[in-house]
Amino acid sequence: MGLLFLLSATLLTPPVPAGEIARAAHAPRLDLRRVAGFRAKPPGKRYSVTVPIGKPRPALPLPRIEGPKDARLPLVVIDPGHGGHDPGAISPYGGRREKDVTLALARAIRDQLVATGRVRVALTRADDRYLVLEERYGIARRLKADLFLSIHADSAESDEAHGASVFTLSEVASDREAAKLAARENKANIINGVDLGAHSGAVSSILLDLTQRETMSVASDFARLLQREAADEVPFRSDAHRFASFVVLKAPDTPSVLFETGFLSNKEDADFLTSKAGQQKVARGVREAVQIHFARRIAAEGR
Ligand SMILES: [Zn+2]
Repeated sequence: MGLLFLLSATLLTPPVPAGEIARAAHAPRLDLRRVAGFRAKPPGKRYSVTVPIGKPRPALPLPRIEGPKDARLPLVVIDPGHGGHDPGAISPYGGRREKDVTLALARAIRDQLVATGRVRVALTRADDRYLVLEERYGIARRLKADLFLSIHADSAESDEAHGASVFTLSEVASDREAAKLAARENKANIINGVDLGAHSGAVSSILLDLTQRETMSVASDFARLLQREAADEVPFRSDAHRFASFVVLKAPDTPSVLFETGFLSNKEDADFLTSKAGQQKVARGVREAVQIHFARRIAAEGR
Protein backbone atom coordinates (compact mmCIF):
# COMPACT_ATOMS: atom_id res chain seq x y z
CA MET A 1 0.00 0.00 0.00
CA GLY A 2 2.70 2.42 1.04
CA LEU A 3 4.66 1.71 -2.12
CA LEU A 4 1.60 2.26 -4.31
CA PHE A 5 0.91 5.56 -2.59
CA LEU A 6 4.46 6.75 -3.13
CA LEU A 7 4.38 5.67 -6.78
CA SER A 8 1.19 7.56 -7.48
CA ALA A 9 2.53 10.56 -5.58
CA THR A 10 5.55 10.56 -7.88
CA LEU A 11 3.38 10.34 -10.96
CA LEU A 12 1.35 13.30 -9.72
CA THR A 13 4.40 15.48 -9.13
CA PRO A 14 4.18 18.37 -11.62
CA PRO A 15 6.83 18.28 -14.34
CA VAL A 16 9.85 20.55 -13.91
CA PRO A 17 9.56 23.62 -16.20
CA ALA A 18 11.86 23.44 -19.22
CA GLY A 19 13.63 26.64 -18.19
CA GLU A 20 14.76 25.13 -14.94
CA ILE A 21 16.26 22.10 -16.69
CA ALA A 22 18.16 24.44 -19.02
CA ARG A 23 19.50 26.47 -16.07
CA ALA A 24 20.56 23.29 -14.24
CA ALA A 25 22.36 22.05 -17.33
CA HIS A 26 24.37 25.26 -17.57
CA ALA A 27 25.11 25.64 -13.87
CA PRO A 28 28.86 25.61 -13.11
CA ARG A 29 30.01 22.40 -11.45
CA LEU A 30 31.15 22.66 -7.86
CA ASP A 31 34.19 20.68 -6.90
CA LEU A 32 32.87 19.38 -3.61
CA ARG A 33 36.31 18.34 -2.39
CA ARG A 34 37.29 22.03 -2.33
CA VAL A 35 34.33 23.22 -0.31
CA ALA A 36 35.30 23.02 3.36
CA GLY A 37 32.63 21.72 5.69
CA PHE A 38 30.39 20.77 2.80
CA ARG A 39 27.26 18.89 3.79
CA ALA A 40 25.31 17.08 1.12
CA LYS A 41 21.72 18.34 0.92
CA PRO A 42 18.94 16.03 -0.11
CA PRO A 43 17.89 16.56 -3.72
CA GLY A 44 15.01 18.99 -4.19
CA LYS A 45 12.55 16.28 -5.21
CA ARG A 46 9.48 15.98 -3.04
CA TYR A 47 9.06 12.21 -3.41
CA SER A 48 11.32 9.37 -4.26
CA VAL A 49 10.62 5.68 -4.66
CA THR A 50 13.16 2.89 -4.57
CA VAL A 51 12.15 -0.29 -6.37
CA PRO A 52 14.51 -3.24 -6.14
CA ILE A 53 15.18 -4.51 -9.68
CA GLY A 54 18.24 -6.67 -9.02
CA LYS A 55 21.81 -5.53 -9.17
CA PRO A 56 23.21 -5.19 -12.68
CA ARG A 57 26.82 -6.29 -12.70
CA PRO A 58 28.98 -3.50 -14.09
CA ALA A 59 31.09 -4.65 -17.03
CA LEU A 60 34.67 -5.35 -16.04
CA PRO A 61 37.41 -3.29 -17.64
CA LEU A 62 38.73 -5.28 -20.58
CA PRO A 63 42.18 -6.85 -20.22
CA ARG A 64 45.17 -5.77 -22.25
CA ILE A 65 45.66 -7.44 -25.63
CA GLU A 66 49.23 -8.59 -26.10
CA GLY A 67 51.11 -9.40 -29.27
CA PRO A 68 51.21 -7.61 -32.62
CA LYS A 69 49.19 -4.40 -32.90
CA ASP A 70 47.30 -5.72 -35.92
CA ALA A 71 43.57 -6.10 -35.31
CA ARG A 72 43.30 -8.44 -38.33
CA LEU A 73 45.29 -11.12 -36.51
CA PRO A 74 43.26 -13.74 -34.63
CA LEU A 75 42.69 -13.12 -30.94
CA VAL A 76 42.96 -15.92 -28.39
CA VAL A 77 41.52 -15.29 -24.92
CA ILE A 78 43.05 -17.55 -22.26
CA ASP A 79 41.12 -18.05 -19.05
CA PRO A 80 43.07 -19.26 -16.01
CA GLY A 81 40.42 -21.18 -14.04
CA HIS A 82 39.42 -20.17 -10.49
CA GLY A 83 41.14 -17.37 -8.54
CA GLY A 84 40.67 -15.17 -5.50
CA HIS A 85 38.65 -16.91 -2.79
CA ASP A 86 38.08 -19.88 -5.13
CA PRO A 87 41.27 -22.01 -5.08
CA GLY A 88 39.89 -24.81 -7.27
CA ALA A 89 41.44 -28.21 -6.65
CA ILE A 90 44.19 -28.47 -4.04
CA SER A 91 46.96 -31.00 -4.62
CA PRO A 92 47.72 -33.44 -1.80
CA TYR A 93 51.28 -33.30 -3.14
CA GLY A 94 52.77 -30.01 -1.96
CA GLY A 95 49.39 -28.30 -1.49
CA ARG A 96 49.53 -26.46 -4.81
CA ARG A 97 46.27 -24.77 -5.66
CA GLU A 98 44.61 -25.11 -9.04
CA LYS A 99 44.14 -21.31 -9.30
CA ASP A 100 47.95 -20.81 -9.15
CA VAL A 101 48.70 -23.66 -11.53
CA THR A 102 46.18 -22.40 -14.10
CA LEU A 103 47.61 -18.88 -13.92
CA ALA A 104 51.18 -20.16 -14.43
CA LEU A 105 50.02 -22.29 -17.37
CA ALA A 106 48.07 -19.41 -18.91
CA ARG A 107 51.08 -17.10 -18.69
CA ALA A 108 53.33 -19.74 -20.29
CA ILE A 109 50.80 -20.26 -23.10
CA ARG A 110 50.43 -16.51 -23.60
CA ASP A 111 54.20 -16.05 -23.88
CA GLN A 112 54.54 -18.89 -26.39
CA LEU A 113 51.67 -17.56 -28.50
CA VAL A 114 52.87 -13.96 -28.45
CA ALA A 115 56.34 -15.15 -29.51
CA THR A 116 54.91 -16.52 -32.78
CA GLY A 117 53.90 -12.99 -33.81
CA ARG A 118 50.85 -14.52 -35.51
CA VAL A 119 48.14 -14.15 -32.90
CA ARG A 120 47.03 -11.65 -30.31
CA VAL A 121 46.42 -12.85 -26.76
CA ALA A 122 44.51 -11.64 -23.71
CA LEU A 123 44.07 -13.25 -20.29
CA THR A 124 40.74 -13.05 -18.45
CA ARG A 125 42.79 -12.58 -15.29
CA ALA A 126 46.51 -11.88 -14.96
CA ASP A 127 46.51 -12.02 -11.16
CA ASP A 128 44.81 -13.77 -8.27
CA ARG A 129 41.24 -12.52 -8.60
CA TYR A 130 37.79 -14.03 -8.64
CA LEU A 131 35.62 -13.85 -11.75
CA VAL A 132 32.23 -15.47 -12.15
CA LEU A 133 32.02 -17.82 -15.11
CA GLU A 134 29.91 -15.48 -17.23
CA GLU A 135 32.50 -12.74 -16.82
CA ARG A 136 35.16 -15.04 -18.20
CA TYR A 137 33.52 -15.77 -21.53
CA GLY A 138 31.97 -12.30 -21.43
CA ILE A 139 35.47 -10.85 -21.74
CA ALA A 140 36.12 -13.07 -24.77
CA ARG A 141 32.86 -11.98 -26.41
CA ARG A 142 33.44 -8.29 -25.75
CA LEU A 143 36.92 -8.56 -27.24
CA LYS A 144 35.45 -10.51 -30.20
CA ALA A 145 37.89 -13.33 -29.56
CA ASP A 146 38.39 -15.98 -32.23
CA LEU A 147 39.14 -18.67 -29.68
CA PHE A 148 38.49 -19.03 -25.95
CA LEU A 149 40.63 -21.41 -23.94
CA SER A 150 39.78 -22.05 -20.30
CA ILE A 151 42.62 -23.72 -18.37
CA HIS A 152 41.98 -26.09 -15.47
CA ALA A 153 43.54 -28.96 -13.54
CA ASP A 154 41.34 -31.68 -12.15
CA SER A 155 41.32 -33.69 -8.97
CA ALA A 156 39.84 -37.11 -8.22
CA GLU A 157 39.32 -39.26 -5.15
CA SER A 158 41.55 -41.92 -6.65
CA ASP A 159 45.16 -40.84 -7.02
CA GLU A 160 45.34 -43.20 -10.00
CA ALA A 161 43.30 -40.90 -12.23
CA HIS A 162 45.65 -39.00 -14.51
CA GLY A 163 45.99 -37.39 -17.91
CA ALA A 164 44.61 -34.36 -19.71
CA SER A 165 41.21 -33.92 -21.39
CA VAL A 166 39.85 -31.27 -23.73
CA PHE A 167 36.20 -30.47 -23.21
CA THR A 168 33.77 -28.83 -25.56
CA LEU A 169 30.22 -27.83 -24.79
CA SER A 170 27.33 -30.22 -24.89
CA GLU A 171 24.13 -30.24 -22.90
CA VAL A 172 24.56 -34.01 -22.81
CA ALA A 173 27.78 -35.05 -21.08
CA SER A 174 29.88 -37.72 -22.79
CA ASP A 175 30.30 -39.69 -19.56
CA ARG A 176 29.26 -39.58 -15.91
CA GLU A 177 32.64 -38.36 -14.76
CA ALA A 178 32.47 -35.47 -17.24
CA ALA A 179 29.01 -34.53 -15.94
CA LYS A 180 30.28 -34.54 -12.35
CA LEU A 181 33.32 -32.49 -13.31
CA ALA A 182 31.14 -29.88 -15.04
CA ALA A 183 28.92 -29.73 -11.95
CA ARG A 184 32.00 -29.12 -9.78
CA GLU A 185 33.43 -26.46 -12.07
CA ASN A 186 30.06 -24.72 -12.42
CA LYS A 187 29.93 -24.44 -8.62
CA ALA A 188 32.60 -21.76 -8.86
CA ASN A 189 29.68 -19.34 -9.27
CA ILE A 190 28.10 -20.22 -5.94
CA ILE A 191 29.28 -18.42 -2.82
CA ASN A 192 27.49 -18.78 0.50
CA GLY A 193 24.62 -20.44 -1.30
CA VAL A 194 24.06 -17.52 -3.68
CA ASP A 195 24.33 -18.37 -7.36
CA LEU A 196 26.14 -15.37 -8.80
CA GLY A 197 25.57 -16.46 -12.38
CA ALA A 198 21.84 -17.07 -12.05
CA HIS A 199 20.81 -13.84 -13.78
CA SER A 200 22.07 -14.88 -17.15
CA GLY A 201 18.98 -16.54 -18.55
CA ALA A 202 19.57 -14.80 -21.86
CA VAL A 203 22.61 -16.90 -22.54
CA SER A 204 20.75 -20.16 -21.95
CA SER A 205 18.15 -19.21 -24.52
CA ILE A 206 20.76 -18.07 -27.01
CA LEU A 207 22.21 -21.56 -26.59
CA LEU A 208 19.27 -22.93 -28.51
CA ASP A 209 20.20 -20.83 -31.48
CA LEU A 210 21.25 -22.92 -34.43
CA THR A 211 24.11 -20.57 -35.19
CA GLN A 212 25.86 -22.03 -32.19
CA ARG A 213 26.32 -25.29 -34.06
CA GLU A 214 29.02 -23.71 -36.18
CA THR A 215 30.76 -22.36 -33.08
CA MET A 216 30.66 -25.79 -31.47
CA SER A 217 31.98 -27.50 -34.56
CA VAL A 218 34.95 -25.11 -34.73
CA ALA A 219 35.60 -25.75 -31.02
CA SER A 220 35.50 -29.52 -31.61
CA ASP A 221 37.99 -29.20 -34.46
CA PHE A 222 40.32 -27.29 -32.16
CA ALA A 223 39.89 -29.81 -29.32
CA ARG A 224 40.99 -32.68 -31.59
CA LEU A 225 43.87 -30.62 -32.91
CA LEU A 226 45.03 -29.72 -29.40
CA GLN A 227 45.16 -33.37 -28.39
CA ARG A 228 47.01 -34.29 -31.59
CA GLU A 229 49.57 -31.51 -31.30
CA ALA A 230 50.18 -31.68 -27.56
CA ALA A 231 50.09 -35.46 -27.09
CA ASP A 232 53.83 -35.88 -27.69
CA GLU A 233 54.65 -33.80 -24.63
CA VAL A 234 51.52 -33.79 -22.49
CA PRO A 235 50.04 -37.04 -21.12
CA PHE A 236 46.40 -37.30 -22.25
CA ARG A 237 43.64 -39.69 -21.27
CA SER A 238 42.73 -42.14 -24.00
CA ASP A 239 39.26 -40.59 -24.42
CA ALA A 240 40.68 -37.08 -24.35
CA HIS A 241 38.03 -35.12 -26.26
CA ARG A 242 34.95 -35.08 -24.06
CA PHE A 243 31.71 -33.16 -23.73
CA ALA A 244 29.87 -31.57 -20.84
CA SER A 245 27.74 -28.58 -19.93
CA PHE A 246 30.35 -26.18 -18.59
CA VAL A 247 28.97 -22.69 -18.00
CA VAL A 248 32.29 -21.15 -19.00
CA LEU A 249 31.96 -22.64 -22.52
CA LYS A 250 28.53 -21.14 -23.21
CA ALA A 251 29.42 -18.15 -25.37
CA PRO A 252 27.21 -18.76 -28.41
CA ASP A 253 29.58 -17.09 -30.85
CA THR A 254 33.10 -17.80 -29.55
CA PRO A 255 34.60 -21.25 -30.18
CA SER A 256 35.49 -22.36 -26.65
CA VAL A 257 37.32 -25.29 -25.12
CA LEU A 258 38.11 -26.20 -21.54
CA PHE A 259 41.54 -27.76 -21.18
CA GLU A 260 41.78 -29.97 -18.09
CA THR A 261 45.54 -30.24 -18.16
CA GLY A 262 45.78 -33.19 -15.75
CA PHE A 263 45.06 -34.26 -12.19
CA LEU A 264 46.55 -32.43 -9.22
CA SER A 265 45.52 -35.49 -7.19
CA ASN A 266 47.99 -37.64 -9.13
CA LYS A 267 51.66 -37.33 -8.18
CA GLU A 268 53.13 -37.46 -11.71
CA ASP A 269 50.55 -35.05 -13.12
CA ALA A 270 51.00 -32.65 -10.18
CA ASP A 271 54.78 -32.66 -10.58
CA PHE A 272 54.44 -32.11 -14.32
CA LEU A 273 51.89 -29.27 -14.10
CA THR A 274 53.66 -27.41 -11.29
CA SER A 275 57.11 -27.57 -12.94
CA LYS A 276 58.38 -24.91 -15.33
CA ALA A 277 59.36 -27.64 -17.78
CA GLY A 278 55.88 -29.18 -17.72
CA GLN A 279 54.23 -25.78 -18.13
CA GLN A 280 56.42 -25.08 -21.16
CA LYS A 281 55.41 -28.40 -22.69
CA VAL A 282 51.72 -27.60 -22.26
CA ALA A 283 52.31 -24.14 -23.73
CA ARG A 284 54.16 -25.52 -26.77
CA GLY A 285 51.35 -27.98 -27.45
CA VAL A 286 48.75 -25.21 -27.34
CA ARG A 287 50.94 -22.99 -29.53
CA GLU A 288 51.22 -25.65 -32.26
CA ALA A 289 47.48 -26.36 -32.19
CA VAL A 290 46.58 -22.66 -32.30
CA GLN A 291 48.83 -21.99 -35.28
CA ILE A 292 47.46 -24.88 -37.31
CA HIS A 293 43.90 -24.03 -36.29
CA PHE A 294 44.07 -20.48 -37.61
CA ALA A 295 46.03 -21.46 -40.72
CA ARG A 296 43.17 -23.86 -41.53
CA ARG A 297 40.48 -21.31 -40.73
CA ILE A 298 42.10 -18.70 -42.94
CA ALA A 299 42.53 -21.21 -45.78
CA ALA A 300 38.87 -22.30 -45.40
CA GLU A 301 37.68 -18.71 -45.59
CA GLY A 302 39.74 -18.19 -48.75
CA ARG A 303 41.45 -15.09 -47.43
ZN1 LIG B 1 38.86 -26.15 -12.34
